[in-house]
Amino acid sequence: MSNPETRDWSAVVEDGATKTNEPVSSAVADPEAATRRHEPHEPPREHLPERLYEKREFVHNKRIDGPFRRFKWFVMVVTLAIYYVTPWIRWDRGPYAPDQAVLVDLAHRRFYMFGIEIWPHEFYFVAGLLIMAGIGLFLVTSAVGRAWCGYACPQTVWTDLFQHVDRFVDGDRNARRRLDNAPWTWGKIFRRAFKWTIYLLIGLVTGGAWILYFADAPTLLRDFFSGEAAPIAYITVAVLTLTTVTLGGFMREQVCIYMCPWPRIQTAMLDEKSLIVTYKDWRGEPRGSVKKARRNPGQFGDCIDCTQCVQVCPTGIDIREGPQIGCITCALCIDACDRVMKDIGRPRGLIDYATLEDCEREAAGEAPRSPWRTLLRPRTVAYFLIWGGIGGALLFALGVRSHTELTVAPDRNPHYMLLSDGSVRNSYTLKLRNMESRPRRMEIALEGLPGAVMWTDAIGKNDAAASQTVTVPADLVRQVRAYVALPAGTKAQAFTFRLTSLDEQNESDEVTTRFDAPEEQ
Ligand code: SF4
Ligand code: SF4
Repeated sequence: MSNPETRDWSAVVEDGATKTNEPVSSAVADPEAATRRHEPHEPPREHLPERLYEKREFVHNKRIDGPFRRFKWFVMVVTLAIYYVTPWIRWDRGPYAPDQAVLVDLAHRRFYMFGIEIWPHEFYFVAGLLIMAGIGLFLVTSAVGRAWCGYACPQTVWTDLFQHVDRFVDGDRNARRRLDNAPWTWGKIFRRAFKWTIYLLIGLVTGGAWILYFADAPTLLRDFFSGEAAPIAYITVAVLTLTTVTLGGFMREQVCIYMCPWPRIQTAMLDEKSLIVTYKDWRGEPRGSVKKARRNPGQFGDCIDCTQCVQVCPTGIDIREGPQIGCITCALCIDACDRVMKDIGRPRGLIDYATLEDCEREAAGEAPRSPWRTLLRPRTVAYFLIWGGIGGALLFALGVRSHTELTVAPDRNPHYMLLSDGSVRNSYTLKLRNMESRPRRMEIALEGLPGAVMWTDAIGKNDAAASQTVTVPADLVRQVRAYVALPAGTKAQAFTFRLTSLDEQNESDEVTTRFDAPEEQ
């Protein structure tokens, strides 16, 4: 550890800029201490930052091929396909419900997802899914580090897409850098206009796909282009087009490094047993070219300082400086370095997925542990059990939920009425919920109220009986005014309304309420 007593705190002026050895953070003040505490393999920092804010250098990452790049392609195609195609998948729910497989029907307050239909009073299913998504992220992070950031996060996927557009229009890294620095000519203006038009189209398709989740996709698309869609549809598409182009086309890695809170949370969740992309400095240092290494055997490590790992990095960082928040663990630097190692005939894996614990073992000459021990450890198993438990509970609740529901609200003003024949009448507002996508006949019966009869606004008093049958429209709540009467002399008492569906499902629901009567009777 460097001694604060002997540290040089002086400031000097070089080229008009003040440079000082005064620390800007505890990590900079004592890099070795920070290294030992959090980042055992980070090489000591040699230079202090000259200023706290550095002008952004646009990242022009180089094309690379390899197993991780191909996996990234696969995830990108699958996630984009899911996003753009899902609103067009049809799902037959009969004539009374929409036939779009995934639909957030705000007008009718329903969420459809294939065979599942969620009503507003069942929002706990959505809450459960959100909790599962959160715990799923914890699970993935503790098992394989920032895999979400590296492969599946929308910011990563769209940034990757925009970077491919750059490569398609302007060429690979060097050509793009040259074009950036070149003066504005008609050729450059044309290329920029062409590229930004593609950006805009991607943004438009992205925003356009989003609104299709909220209405019947073919109808909305037709209305959108004929100018008959609701203003909110145009506003939403405009906002999403703008944000997609801004975040994916221009801000890119800045979102991951400065705007997104998730890297900070994830960093706190990683431990020495989490898989991260690591440069094995004990193997790579000191760096030196192949020629130098040949001339001085045993003097140099495996890193030939070719900077291929830096050039392919989509966030523009140098992983050889140690784990850092800008690393989204996309592993493209592994592909790049493995290729270099192959070309110069050295073993792959100078940069690799590894846990800090394994790095220490490897550096000490011991064999790394099995990857299963990384994946199957108490923390990941606990996350998985919680995640699976919530999923199981949601599935169970979905499986046993009734599609028939009854609510009862007794009239309280007045509590009862005395009819001309001396009988006592109470009034109730019943809500009959039919969650099936077809009309259903349902029976409302009185239980625990001997001698009582019931009628409704639609069924006259002459047809009063202990039970009545009504039809509830598909996928709706039908409100019914029910009148219950008992002969004179009845006392106040509790009783039950029972609602039963008269179909093969024979579902039922019941509500116990109160029949009020004058005390003297
Ligand atoms: S790609 Fe490998 S060899 Fe080249 S600079 Fe990076 S770590 Fe060193
Ligand atoms: S350092 Fe490697 S793993 Fe990290 S973001 Fe860059 S290329 Fe991806």
